[in-house]
Amino acid sequence: MPLFDGIYLDHNATTPLKPAARAAMLDVLDFPGNASAIHKAGRTARKILEDARATVVEVLDLGVRDVVVFTSGATEANNLALRGAGMERLIVSAIEHPAVLHTAERSGLAVDILPVLSSGVVDLDALEKMLIGNTRQTLISIMLVNNETGVIQPIDQVVALARLYGALVHTDAVQAIGRIPLALQKLGVDFLSLSGHKIGGPQGVGALIIANCAVIAPQLTGGNQEKNLRAGTENLAGIAGLAAALRHLDQGLMEKLGLWRDRIERELSAIAPIHIFGANTARVANTTMFALPGASSETQLIALDLAGICVSNGSACSSGTVKPSHVLQAMGANALIAQASLRVSLGWNTTEEDITRFIAAWTKMFERVKDRCPK
Ligand code: PLP
Repeated sequence: MPLFDGIYLDHNATTPLKPAARAAMLDVLDFPGNASAIHKAGRTARKILEDARATVVEVLDLGVRDVVVFTSGATEANNLALRGAGMERLIVSAIEHPAVLHTAERSGLAVDILPVLSSGVVDLDALEKMLIGNTRQTLISIMLVNNETGVIQPIDQVVALARLYGALVHTDAVQAIGRIPLALQKLGVDFLSLSGHKIGGPQGVGALIIANCAVIAPQLTGGNQEKNLRAGTENLAGIAGLAAALRHLDQGLMEKLGLWRDRIERELSAIAPIHIFGANTARVANTTMFALPGASSETQLIALDLAGICVSNGSACSSGTVKPSHVLQAMGANALIAQASLRVSLGWNTTEEDITRFIAAWTKMFERVKDRCPK
């Protein structure tokens, strides 16, 4: 019996495993080899590992001097970049995932938080001011796509500023892969993080891409796996699943999801005074984040959950207290709006029927709470 039979519209949290990724993992799971062993089984494991690396190189258009380090996910990849790049100063945007924000805060380095505009896009003027006259070795870390709003960041302009003022750039591209075209050589960043479970691959695997042989110090030491940059026996099945997911990225998917995302926003706006975050900004097509002032995120989430629909809110829940999303706060949203937000993120197995049922369930919830909502 399947463990889950509801409607899943939370692909930015994790994507269901694609059949091709599952099949690739199953092939490896029964296999005994360790990629560091020199016997036949070891050599086969090594081939599986290097084939997966070659897939990353090909799909993300890496150059000959770029290095792929497999990790346990994007959190570890972000840690490796921020802590391992050997910088004196970090500039990170206010809307980064905690895997960047908290890592920067705890790095012991000088940290500057770059603000964003109300559109959700990083403030490039503020970035330039932070860089003018800078004498410290600096790494700028700005995500390519925000996980809550789907807003796309101008990484090309960030790279141009970084080059002008002699800084390096890391981008957390977790929510960009499969959602916008991505070629490392064109992007021009020095470090890029990715994660398996946001692209139809498994949880617990990811990679840091190091461009142009940039220097990085390992954060996990032990064996000499991953060219001495990340010790520990590789998660071979996970890596095979990640590579299969990359090979099976569906180029036409976003066009279809964009129509459905627009349908949600259009139909909900027609009946309710929702506020859509980043509405007039370049966003990835699979994500909408909106608020219904007067109805808390929890009210909306619970009503949808009871109808068998999984979505997410923009609030981080820690130790039983729900805090408004740091992303929405950075965009200047007041607490009332930030605490009334909902994120719907679509993906490879979303159907039009899912969208219809989501709209029907949300409308039913709205009918119940609408007297509380400001007109
Ligand atoms: N960065 C972003 C933008 C994310 O959305 C996530 C996952 O939520 C992560 C990093 C962390 O990735 P992982 O779960 O692979 O550690």
